[in-house]
Amino acid sequence: MKTVLVTGGAGYIGSHACKALKAAGYIPVTFDNLVTGWRDAVKFGPFEQGDLQDRARLDEVFAKHRPVAVMHFAALSQVGEAMSEPGRYWANNTGGSLNLIEAAVAAGCLDFVFSSTCATYGEHDNVVLDEQTPQLPLNAYGASKRAVEDILQDFEAAHGLRSVIFRYFNVAGADPEAEVGEFHRPETHLVPLVLDALDGKRDALTVFGTDYETPDGTCIRDYVHVCDLVDAHVLGLQWLESEKGSQVFNLGTGSGFSVREVMDKAAEVTGRAVPCNEGPRRAGDCTKLVSGSTRAITELGWEPRRSRLEVMIADAWTWHQSGHYEA
Ligand code: UDP
Repeated sequence: MKTVLVTGGAGYIGSHACKALKAAGYIPVTFDNLVTGWRDAVKFGPFEQGDLQDRARLDEVFAKHRPVAVMHFAALSQVGEAMSEPGRYWANNTGGSLNLIEAAVAAGCLDFVFSSTCATYGEHDNVVLDEQTPQLPLNAYGASKRAVEDILQDFEAAHGLRSVIFRYFNVAGADPEAEVGEFHRPETHLVPLVLDALDGKRDALTVFGTDYETPDGTCIRDYVHVCDLVDAHVLGLQWLESEKGSQVFNLGTGSGFSVREVMDKAAEVTGRAVPCNEGPRRAGDCTKLVSGSTRAITELGWEPRRSRLEVMIADAWTWHQSGHYEA
């Protein structure tokens, strides 16, 4: 069986990717520093604790497991934090990724699947966001990810590293079997916060900004189910294995939902009201981020199956009620 090195495999998306990789016949080796990830989330293959900034540790792990490819999820990913602590984002996301890429090349592991983000696009009024849209990030999170995309291009030219880059829109939902799910401490993402609020686990949800130029004044995002997202990663890996070359794919559904629409849908799915109050805009937030590309569907053969808002919320609710991790 082929081994894949999954950085951030103890995190939300990485743990779902490990499950999908195992189901597809790979051995997922998780590499994670457990700063935001959970040991309990590593259920589908070996675990190697380590930090991306520790090159010697990376070399050791590449030598021990001899992966055929890397799936690189490990990153800091909070827009608000990126505004106040940009240095951590550049060091961790860009510096750590450079270290990983260099270690992969040194080990002769030349297939690389990278988690990028729609935050690399920034604010574009009335522009369909496809893979050719100029990348003008508004925050250090997006900027630190865009820089890694540039590094991957340079390493392809110099060292033959092949990459599939996925620019995610907003990831939500959980494994329907609730073996893994979304669990951040502190939590900052909309869907789990809405569920916490309606379940009485926190006082109320604060809506960040109600004066955006959108129909109800709140920000619009394109939500994609985590299981669909990781399915695309397995297809991306197979794309590289079949030597189709490097490519960039947006992963979104093309449908946007406002913060209020997400709250309303959560109330409908759970039968509970969402206590909320209105707050100021969060620094670094774009008004609207919705994918305008079908490249992943037409070229990669991606078939999103669970990315309907009610399914994402229902799966997140099942996980919310059943699961959590211990450190
Ligand atoms: N949001 C909100 N209140 C919260 C958390 C998020 O209104 O407590 C909004 C946020 O401003 C954004 C959307 O929900 O418009 C999604 O935010 P999230 O942090 O989940 O993902 P991001 O878009 O930052 O990747």
